[in-house]
Amino acid sequence: MTPSEISGLFPKASKLALVTDSNVDRLHGDRVAREIESSGIRTDRIVIPAGEASKSLENHARLVSSFAALEMTRSDAVVALGGGVVGDLAGFAASTYMRGIGFVQIPTTLLAMVDSSIGGKTGVDIPEGKNLVGAFHLPAAIIRDCGFLETLPEKELMNGYAEMIKTAVLFDPELFEAMKCRPAGSTLAAAVERCAELKSQVVADDFRESGRRMLLNLGHTFGHAIEKVSEFAVPHGEAVAMGMRIVSKDVPEIGAMLDAYGFGTLESAGLSGRKSEILESMAHDKKRSGDSVTLIVPRAVGDCRMMSVPISELGEWL
Ligand code: ADP
Ligand code: ZN
Repeated sequence: MTPSEISGLFPKASKLALVTDSNVDRLHGDRVAREIESSGIRTDRIVIPAGEASKSLENHARLVSSFAALEMTRSDAVVALGGGVVGDLAGFAASTYMRGIGFVQIPTTLLAMVDSSIGGKTGVDIPEGKNLVGAFHLPAAIIRDCGFLETLPEKELMNGYAEMIKTAVLFDPELFEAMKCRPAGSTLAAAVERCAELKSQVVADDFRESGRRMLLNLGHTFGHAIEKVSEFAVPHGEAVAMGMRIVSKDVPEIGAMLDAYGFGTLESAGLSGRKSEILESMAHDKKRSGDSVTLIVPRAVGDCRMMSVPISELGEWL
């Protein structure tokens, strides 16, 4: 699917709001807006500042006010052009404006292409924590175009690779093999499609995250705690990679793959002296159940198990 086909998804729409961030707007905004408008639909652009700080209730208010000022109705729709920040914020605004209007995701980061744009999770951060306010709101379509990745900084690519390795470890030994060399060009496009397909399948099986969807937390239980303790100096992908290493000690090829991609360790990030803070943070994880947390633990590539671990025993993993 291409941007020029978006208006066809919303036959009753008279206008679209194209939400993007300042970086993506500068690099790709004009071209994408032109492509969408080539089908004859009016498209108004709303640009938010780039960066996680934009995923706020203030910007949510700003977006829905803009939709109202544009006189958008229930038949109109929102297009999110950007990474996870834009997708989460614009998706949440679409899910709440008039109790929910249509939206389309055009992910422009590797992470968003393989992960955050899929599954209908939308939301914003509040000072008390990330993603604490949000809604499930499925996009009408997700338009993946690896062409956007040509302008994406290396550090942002790494965030995506971590989630792709995670997906391969969970579900697909063949993809894991294919990713042993860092994919580029058509190999990358094929791997992105495969990851997206695998995540969509899991999410479709288990929309509200009761069982199978929890597998996607591989590397994230430790990873989230590492991000927090580092005050988000460690990027999401790097933290997930560290989390995966911690639970993958029985499967050396996973650690070897993370090495090959250049992902660091608690030691290399200067966090080896902060293990007790990491454990403390996990004890407060919102996904904790009673006195245990569920870890996803690989037994082999393609064979991962959920394991309930008492909080008092988590230290043995580090
Ligand atoms: P993520 O998708 O990793 O959650 P963000 O939405 O915060 O993250 O995007 C990460 C950064 O990459 C932001 O600064 C954003 O403006 C920038 N960005 C997004 N897509 C592109 C792109 N295709 N080319 C260059 N920079 C991009
Ligand atoms: Zn993640």
